[in-house]
Amino acid sequence: MGARVLIPFAAVLLSAAVSAHHEATFEHIPLEERLKMAEETESWAYQPPVVSLGKNDVPSDAIQLMAGDMSEWESTKGGVSPWAIKRGVVTVAPGKGDIRTKRSFCDMQLHFEWKTPTDVKGMQGQQRNNSGIFIQERYELQVLDSYNNETYGNGQAGALYKQVPPRVNAMRPTGEWQSYDILYTAPRFNGSERVSPGYVTLMHNGVVLHNHQEIAGTTEWIGPPQIDQHGCAPLKLQDHGNKVSFRNMWVREL
Ligand code: MG
Repeated sequence: MGARVLIPFAAVLLSAAVSAHHEATFEHIPLEERLKMAEETESWAYQPPVVSLGKNDVPSDAIQLMAGDMSEWESTKGGVSPWAIKRGVVTVAPGKGDIRTKRSFCDMQLHFEWKTPTDVKGMQGQQRNNSGIFIQERYELQVLDSYNNETYGNGQAGALYKQVPPRVNAMRPTGEWQSYDILYTAPRFNGSERVSPGYVTLMHNGVVLHNHQEIAGTTEWIGPPQIDQHGCAPLKLQDHGNKVSFRNMWVREL
């Protein structure tokens, strides 16, 4: 009975799913034979593992980097992180220096949220609550209050700093949480020769700022990007002297 029910159902699906072109190509073949032909291109070898979403939509296979304490972080000068976490929110400790993850990462999906202070009196341009995330400690995606705040394009929020401006400015108002979703492909090296550049895709509040953007080289404040041979490396957060906050940061290694 199962087969008798299934075959008419499959026939409906088949006729609905295939284009007129394909129907014309295969319609002279009896249905049962067509179903067998269709099975030939099914692949059952890989069954995707199930990923469920937990609190704050954190995927079950993600590495959480701000889950209650700073144990995933250290000072780039060595020793424990000088930045603290309070109720899941990590805030820059101005003047105490950058922090980085203890873990190293290569290709990854990265998510986090960030927020800048609302008191912006007398602050403008690059001075208005600047921070940044350096992927593999070398490639900065800018974090900055770019809401009604003019600065050079390749320095505003979401810029691949000093290399590529974001396609658009997708800022929520100052003081609101902003989200970054990043897909990163690390550069490949053969000795000191870079055989493939790195690539980054960035969505800011769900809006695409970079789509598989080639990364020319390291982020430099002065001068052109450099090629710097490296392997998997930490994520670094920048202390630019401003109390920028971060939360809900997680990585899925790809
Ligand atoms: Mg910065």
